[in-house]
Parts: sequence; C-alpha cells; structure tokens
Amino acid sequence: MTKPNFEHQERIQFTSEDAELATLAVRAGQLRTTEGEHSDPIFPTSSFVYSSAAEAAARFGGDEPGNIYSRFTNPTVNAFERRIAALEGAERAVATSSGMAAILSIGLSLLQQGDHVVCSRSVFGSTVSLFEKYLSRAGIATTFVDPKDLSAWKAAIQPNTRLLFLETPSNPLAELTDIEAVAELAHNHDALLAVDNCFLTPIFQQPLALGADIVIHSATKYLDGQGRCVGGVCLGSDKLMEEVFGFIRTGGACMSPFNAWTFQKGLETLKIRMEAHASNALAMASWLKAQPGIEKVHYSGLADHPQHALAKRQQSGFGGVLAFEVAGGKEAAWRFIDATKMVSITGNLGDVKTTITHPATTTHGRMSVEARAQAGIKDNLIRLSVGIEALEDIQADMALGLAAL
Ligand SMILES: *Cc1c(COP(=O)(O)O)cnc(C)c1O
Repeated sequence: MTKPNFEHQERIQFTSEDAELATLAVRAGQLRTTEGEHSDPIFPTSSFVYSSAAEAAARFGGDEPGNIYSRFTNPTVNAFERRIAALEGAERAVATSSGMAAILSIGLSLLQQGDHVVCSRSVFGSTVSLFEKYLSRAGIATTFVDPKDLSAWKAAIQPNTRLLFLETPSNPLAELTDIEAVAELAHNHDALLAVDNCFLTPIFQQPLALGADIVIHSATKYLDGQGRCVGGVCLGSDKLMEEVFGFIRTGGACMSPFNAWTFQKGLETLKIRMEAHASNALAMASWLKAQPGIEKVHYSGLADHPQHALAKRQQSGFGGVLAFEVAGGKEAAWRFIDATKMVSITGNLGDVKTTITHPATTTHGRMSVEARAQAGIKDNLIRLSVGIEALEDIQADMALGLAAL
C-alpha cells in the first residue's frame, strides 16, 4: 500500500508573481496526493494519525510540520487558503466558519481592551452590531464615520485607535472609500487598515496592493458564487495572520473541509463569473436609469456616479450589485418586487441567480429610523444583485416591476 504523500506535485508553483488571476483561480494552492487525482481532493476527517508515538509528540510539540486536528490543520481548508491568498496577493490566509467569524477573529486577535476602532458607517449590518454591541463588551470602542469623507476618518482617530475598518463599494448604495488614502492615515497613526472585499473580490480590487493590512471576505457570497455554503477568510502578512490563526485554533471558528472544497471549486470560475456579473450589472444600471419611474440608480460603473473617477482608479471592474430608487415609498418598492417573477426575493447576494432585496425592511431593518436615514437607505430603495442569467430575461423581469409602479 502506498503511503499518502501531501508533497506539492504541481509541476509549477503558482504564486501571484508569476501567473495571471485566471490561472491562479484555477490552479494555485492544490496539493496532489500520490493517487494523482486531477481535481482537488477533500479530506473530511477530524483528526490525523501518526506512525509512532514519537511522531505524534513531535507534531503536537510543533517540532515537525504536519496535520494534527481539523480545527486548525486540514489539507482541504489549507488548499482553499493558499488559493485565495494567491488571488489577493497575501502572504497568508486563515479560513473561518463565516464572514462574521472572520471579522470577530480580527477584533479579538489583533485588538485588546482599551483599543479604539474607526469604522465606516456603511458596512454590513451585522458588522455594525459586532463592533457596537459585542466588541464594546471587551472594552473595544468604535466610532462610525461617513466612508466617503477622508476628513471624518481623520477627525475620528484617537491616540488609542488601532484599527480602521471599511467596505468599498458599500452595500447597498455603492459609496466608495479611497483605500490608499485611508491606509496612509492608518499607518501615520500606528493603526491597521482592514478592508471587507466581499463586493468586488480580488478579481476587481486588491486592497493589500493599495496599502491595506488585512482583507476579509464573506466566502458565502461571490467566492462560492452559487449560494451553497457559509464561510469566511482573513488575509494579510504572516505576522498578522499568525495571531488570527492562534485565535481560530483556540476559539474554534474554523471552516469545515466540505465548505472549503466548495469554495475551492467556486474560485475556479470566479473570474469569468465576476466578469459576467459586472457586464450584466452595468447594462442593467444604464437601462434602469433610462426608465420612467426610476428616480436614481446607485452603481459605481455609471459615469455620473459621484466617485466614478475613484472607482476607475482603485477597481478594475464595478461588480455585480446595484441599487435603485423607485417613485413612491415602501409600498411602491414592495409592489415592484412582488411583480417580478424570475429574480429571487432574498437577502443573499453574490449568487449566479439575480436576487432582489428591500434593504429598509430586511438587511437594514434592525437599524433605527434615524440611523437608516443618515445612511441614505430610503424606503423606496431596492437592491439588485445581478446574476449571470441572460440580460434580456433580467430586463424583462424588471419591466414587470416597473409596470407595477
Ligand atoms: C454577508 C456579508 C458579511 C457576513 O458574512 P457571513 O458569511 O454571512 O457571515 C460580511 N460583509 C459583507 C459585505 C457581507 O455581504
């Protein structure tokens, strides 16, 4: 019987220096076993065995590299980590059980009691709750700022500020933050910048190359791309990720090998999917803008988006999510949504299927009325995560919504 061997058997080691994104997405990070499998193998095992007591002791003692226990060493999870790290140009990735677990892990591994965070006020709803309600209990305070306003970021910095956190473009209004400028601000004050790169993925935006220290992802969205699994990942330098890894290893918010395998396969098609999402979204944004009954369209790819120049500078594409305001209020928005037949009414995004959402009463429904107004989430706002179906069919479905206005 042959002994499994997890040595790298690719003929070329694919890294971000020597291969294009499309190639990395398909080939980076795979370790072949001696079975010579072509596709990525999956290792659904909780623990690993050793050839001797001495080998077990050496593994546990850290004197010998190798697998120990799948809370912190699993070959499938590690393969996903290597592939996404190659795509983001990161030294190391640490996979987590969800996108929220990735953000929690950053907070609890890199910050401590008495530290202060400056966070964009236009981040994912649960991210706001995490900082405001839970990290505050650990003595970590957060100030929320307008993501577009560099002077607001600057004014919010305190002597104990250790982390700046943002998401660009924001959900659902496509507000952008200048990553390079905020990274410089963070570094001038001995703080780290973390960017939630969920909306554009490394295909369209690489925050580490723009000066950010940490990237986090909800792998649940575009990295999977087909709405199957919940997962997340943190990326950055070996030094920072060793801290995050230590927290995951101990705190247990790890990714399952089944999910890692799904994300690994999802990454293979990430580039062509993102290009299809973005091309459909741009066409839909331009089309919606010209329709009677539509008051405003929010999409950074439109030439009249107030930050279109910044979008062109720091992004290589505009992504698949757009939002639009219909004439009327909540009732009109609901009528529009209910009149559609094909698109899915769901809070999720980043799926190959187009999804439609009323943010004010779902994803942003737990915010106070004032906070929602301040963030610009109006009752007549609808979010569309544009899928990769035929453009004509998405348009025909939106026409049903328009007719119901
Ligand atoms: C969904 C989402 C998250 C949270 O990710 P989960 O995988 O659901 O925990 C974080 N940030 C953004 C931008 C998201 O869309």
